[in-house]
Amino acid sequence: MGEGTIRLFRAIPGPTGLGPIVAKFCRDGEGLLTAFDDAALVSLAALRPDEECEVIGFPALVQKALMAAGEPHGRLAASGHQQATIAHALSDLPRDSIFGAGANHPGLHRALLRTLHELHAFGIDADEMEALASGLPDPLGTKLAEMAVVDQTLIQTLDALGRDTHGRHLKACLEALTDADGEDCRALVLVGGERHPARLRWLRWAAEAGWDLTVVVERHATDGRLFDGAREAEEILGVPAQDVGTGHRLLNNLFARGAHDGPALELAIRSAPDPLAECEWALRGCLEAGPERCGLYIRDLPTYAPLLQAVARRLGVPVCAPQRVPLLTNAFARLTLAVVEFAAGNDVRTLRPVLSSSYLALDGFNRRVVEGGLREAHRMRLLQWDTLNAWAEAHVDRFPWLVKVLQWRESARSAGDDLGGWLDRLRALVHELPWHGAYGGEAYDPARDVRAFSAMQTALANEASVERAVGAVPLDLSGFARRCRTLWEAADVSVPTPEVGVPVATHASALTGVHTLFVLGMLEGSFPRRASQDPILGDEERRAISRLRPIEPPLPLSVDRAAEERDEFYRVCASATHRLVLSYPQADDSRDNVPAFYLEAAAQAAGGATRTDLPRTLLAPPRESCLSAADRAMRAALDAPRERPAPAFLSEDSSRIVVAAPPGERTASELRDALRCAFLYAARHRLHLRPNRREQRWHRLRSLPQAARLLSAEDATAAKRALEEALEAELDTLASEVPEWEIPLLRAGGQRLVADWLTREFAARKLWPMDEGTLRLNVPFGGEGVRSSMPLGVTLSGVAPAVSRFGATKTMHLYSGTMPPVKDFTEADRLFFGLHLLALHEPGAKVQLEVESTNGRRTRLRLDRGDIRRLPAAGLDMEWLVDEDDRDLARRVFFEGVKDSLRRALRTVEVGDMRPSPGDPCDTCEFGELCRRSRAFGEDDSPFGADLRTLGAADS
Ligand code: SF4
Repeated sequence: MGEGTIRLFRAIPGPTGLGPIVAKFCRDGEGLLTAFDDAALVSLAALRPDEECEVIGFPALVQKALMAAGEPHGRLAASGHQQATIAHALSDLPRDSIFGAGANHPGLHRALLRTLHELHAFGIDADEMEALASGLPDPLGTKLAEMAVVDQTLIQTLDALGRDTHGRHLKACLEALTDADGEDCRALVLVGGERHPARLRWLRWAAEAGWDLTVVVERHATDGRLFDGAREAEEILGVPAQDVGTGHRLLNNLFARGAHDGPALELAIRSAPDPLAECEWALRGCLEAGPERCGLYIRDLPTYAPLLQAVARRLGVPVCAPQRVPLLTNAFARLTLAVVEFAAGNDVRTLRPVLSSSYLALDGFNRRVVEGGLREAHRMRLLQWDTLNAWAEAHVDRFPWLVKVLQWRESARSAGDDLGGWLDRLRALVHELPWHGAYGGEAYDPARDVRAFSAMQTALANEASVERAVGAVPLDLSGFARRCRTLWEAADVSVPTPEVGVPVATHASALTGVHTLFVLGMLEGSFPRRASQDPILGDEERRAISRLRPIEPPLPLSVDRAAEERDEFYRVCASATHRLVLSYPQADDSRDNVPAFYLEAAAQAAGGATRTDLPRTLLAPPRESCLSAADRAMRAALDAPRERPAPAFLSEDSSRIVVAAPPGERTASELRDALRCAFLYAARHRLHLRPNRREQRWHRLRSLPQAARLLSAEDATAAKRALEEALEAELDTLASEVPEWEIPLLRAGGQRLVADWLTREFAARKLWPMDEGTLRLNVPFGGEGVRSSMPLGVTLSGVAPAVSRFGATKTMHLYSGTMPPVKDFTEADRLFFGLHLLALHEPGAKVQLEVESTNGRRTRLRLDRGDIRRLPAAGLDMEWLVDEDDRDLARRVFFEGVKDSLRRALRTVEVGDMRPSPGDPCDTCEFGELCRRSRAFGEDDSPFGADLRTLGAADS
């Protein structure tokens, strides 16, 4: 066993400290470069002068040493394996154990694994946990004992798989019986400020075994107290350290005790209106400084990454933002899960979400054909799968994939297999299906799906191998589907990044020597992060454990983690060589932000900073400063003469002819819409556009009383049954149109409406009786007692839901959406109800309407005051349309008004005018995106001020 050396350097973070050490190490011969923090490997690779020295992770270095010592060891287990093993170990604990309640939660598995790794780093293995547990009061003693059991199970299970952990490798080296010959082995180890006593002891062991080690810890440039981990490392290694590197003025003064001088670094502090604008201005800065000289540091990458990617594409600045996203954000993974869950389910309609997947490339027509097939099959209830099989066979030419899915279901349905067996079946399903690699849209990246499928398989394979090691329990198809959802919901997948672009880092150690560094999201709570305790072992518990190990370094507490934030900010400041731009968004979606206090600390340390608050209205730089085509186009558009919104009327006769309605029958709703807004009328009644908006589905529920023939139901029981059946039939129809989660909402809303309708119906029967045998349902206009001929030669078409009579009074029963009180009726409302009253006209008879509305009222609308009977508590009400005591005068006044309105509505219908008229109808109108004049979000509402609004008004 040869005697090696440890040369210890204390370096200022950044290239001036670490750069020369790495360069000299590489010049002196072959060796390995490694770091305690994996993120720093990128920087080490960038700092080496050539590729003679290999960069490897620290666990791989230890494994090499173990091999050199000839000690038996397993391959390092992936964290997925370890988490799967922890899940299994937790499931074996008694249900009333401390971890019992969360045993099935992947979040607990991850947190427990993290804490176990931390304990291993401080030399606490399963045996020591058990020993410590006996000296600690409950519940900590019990908790630590349970953690010891979990840790032991982890080791045993990994042993069975031929795998090992990094902690066991470190321990195995220290306990090695044979001499490890480390002669000629050289390594540079960047410890930085990391706390990891077990690794530091390993370094001592490696030096004793003959390794020649260059160890680098971090230091403050002057007299600041940072990097507690580095001081601990020096104590454990016990060798003298040499200081290297010089700082600039910011580094010399940041978090320092005294005032110091030094070369200047340009510091800018910037605020942008929101995170998107912050990304835009950062990338514009990269264009200005040269993308190859810039870097981005973003603490909250999940929030910023999508914005950054969008801005990078728009401004044409490639960015390398290594990122992992939840697996089920991938469409292929979602599609596969949906197919497996469909196959495992009991309802053929669960295939519906799959049909809209672009992988199937079904057009609207074919999608409706399959949806029809699913509905048809579902109606057969117990025979739905046989019916669907037959339907799929009959349509095999158009939908061959459906036959294959059903065949797979058939073979999988009766199977019982372990997870490994199910994984093979899943591969068969995916590879047999036509969509595997077949989708070829413009933005389609097959590699993305290959990565997702590989992540799906890895998640299952990790679990499967652990299950096989501990004795697998066979699963049926539903069990497999549930397992897929649990595992895939917790898994993530990498997002590909371009090989060349502005580097984006979430750890400062990954960025070294960047000319201009942009640091985004400098907000309190984000950077620095709020201090938070470990969810598994809180601060008090850690103190209690550390008290039992007085000669060992204490376990880190939340305050230590908070202090590490200062270390990280210091590293960030050290990463820029010439210019540092710190920025924050002034507000996000829901609140104003608080800028990080580090900004002031940095400005003071640097002796000042350039401050800029970018206004929201500054959408692009001035013309001479625009460096991207997108900005130039935006600036040109902003500086160009303002354009009026596109004309809001049909200018071509040929178009007007299409929109104008030929003479013929009209419905009351059609005429009402014509009076509300010409665009609304034309879109709905002439062009027959039917936007699939959520509100429209709710509107469909209002016709349930008519479908259930509520007015003629014999008693409350029959009425309730009929309404519930009508509701279920409507939901069956809607099942092919709406997302699955919306059906229970619609059902709950529908049931509430049913209860209300029943209450009002039976209260109305008592208060407002009708003569026996006079009720007639669904009477067409022009049928008995319901006129179709209206003033001005109009013939009304359509069907009156019901008419009845009580003595000399004729009543028409209508169903409506939300109905305002009569005092708030618009001209269109008066026309609509007036036409229905005219349809009831009969010499000598009084007429009235009974309107059941979805705003919880049944209202009788009358022309005269007469006998007023109302029951507001039951939602029954009576209103009169004309404020005149004289009956004849009331009728004349009202119908004259109706006739005038009818004349105006006819003009719109016949002229083919599509001019939108924004107003109250916009609130419920589904055509706002098309007319672009909706009062809520029309083009008239200019984001640039009042000018366009004025132009829009002038236009109309
Ligand atoms: S949104 Fe308003 S203006 Fe536009 S079509 Fe509808 S009602 Fe007319």
